Amino acid sequence: MTRGYFDPIEEIDTSPTISDEIKETTCYMCACRCGIKVHMKDGGIRYIEGNRDHPVNKGVLCAKGSAGIMNHYSPARLTKPLKRVGDRGQAEFKEIEWDEALELASTWLGDIRKSDPRKLAFFTGRDQSQALTGWWASQFGTPNHAAHGGFCSVNMAAGGIYTIGGSFWEFGEPDWDLTKYMLMFGVAEDHDSNPIKAGLSKLKKNGAKFVSLNPIRTGYSAIADEWIGIRPGTDGKFVLALVHELLKADKIDLEYIVRYTNLPWLVIQNPGEADDGLFVRGIDDEPICWDTGTNQAADARLAGVSPALTGSFTMEDGRKAVPAFALMAERYLDESYSPEEAEKETGVPARTIRRIAAEIADVAFEQQIEIDQPWTDWAGRKHDKMIGRPITMHAMRGISAHSNGFHTCRAIHLAPDSIGQYRLPGWLPV
Ligand code: SF4
Repeated sequence: MTRGYFDPIEEIDTSPTISDEIKETTCYMCACRCGIKVHMKDGGIRYIEGNRDHPVNKGVLCAKGSAGIMNHYSPARLTKPLKRVGDRGQAEFKEIEWDEALELASTWLGDIRKSDPRKLAFFTGRDQSQALTGWWASQFGTPNHAAHGGFCSVNMAAGGIYTIGGSFWEFGEPDWDLTKYMLMFGVAEDHDSNPIKAGLSKLKKNGAKFVSLNPIRTGYSAIADEWIGIRPGTDGKFVLALVHELLKADKIDLEYIVRYTNLPWLVIQNPGEADDGLFVRGIDDEPICWDTGTNQAADARLAGVSPALTGSFTMEDGRKAVPAFALMAERYLDESYSPEEAEKETGVPARTIRRIAAEIADVAFEQQIEIDQPWTDWAGRKHDKMIGRPITMHAMRGISAHSNGFHTCRAIHLAPDSIGQYRLPGWLPV
């Protein structure tokens, strides 16, 4: 008998209960730590679901995240300590119990601690407990501790700290709502995966331009408005050529530089001597600038000074000094950072580098954001609104883990600094 059009159909339960317990935690199949709900049945993992209430992923789960169950049950997963039984390099191990492992470890560590704790080099993998393992190593007494980050993306953090005093990398996000132009350098899709996907989709919806520099056009690069197939490891040269062009075109936010950076601080010029290249310091170790208002050296941190950004000045002790900005400008205005020179290293045509620099300048200065919110800056100066430059740059391991990664990461923090991108409170550029 065939079923009639109005006959009741079998009801299908599209969300059957498959668990007797749900544990809320974070995924660690990559570092962005999406919120997950792990469905348990009879004490085992049955299914992993994105947690809709979690701010990072809002319920989205990528394929790696849902495959976390395979990781957990992999036959290759270590479940007990392993003791090497063969010669080093022979890969011969046997499983031992925890009591034996702890006994062995405390004997080895005890001996080292009695002689010199610094002889312990303590390395951990990528886990969620580096605060604890690092603290343990400090208590033990060794400064020689690190985790996998030193070989991975930590240059993004270190480069950020050295350049602008803070790091954001994947744990701080671009402002996806306000960005109008984004440059991404060599980010693999496994990094900060769900948040970036959601963010890029927002950028697309908002009509922002997304430029991806990556030797291969996959993943994020495949949906970029412009893909630039740069030669691996040359991103730093590309960025500094942008700085060259921005300096040449005078598209630099001098007001921001004077107020919020140490580029006005004077740097000693004393070639061949130990103090060459150090900041000039006052009697209380304060940084010194040249105040154009009084035409003399002054504490660079005072709110009322008008620091010079160029020129050469003679200090009371006879030493010559120039503002850090002048050194930066001299260096990056050099022809070795011109788009033509950068083209030779990066493989990116000089005309493309020039156009990207012009686009950045246009968005930064002609399309600036103004937020009607009074605020007070670090020096106590009051401002009636916030100004933002809606450029975002994002980079991760692809450039960071390269042999020149630290300086590339510094360059990626320096370029936005030049155009005053960090001037909007709360604005996270990378
Ligand atoms: S992006 Fe995917 S792998 Fe990374 S934490 Fe989120 S769900 Fe896990």
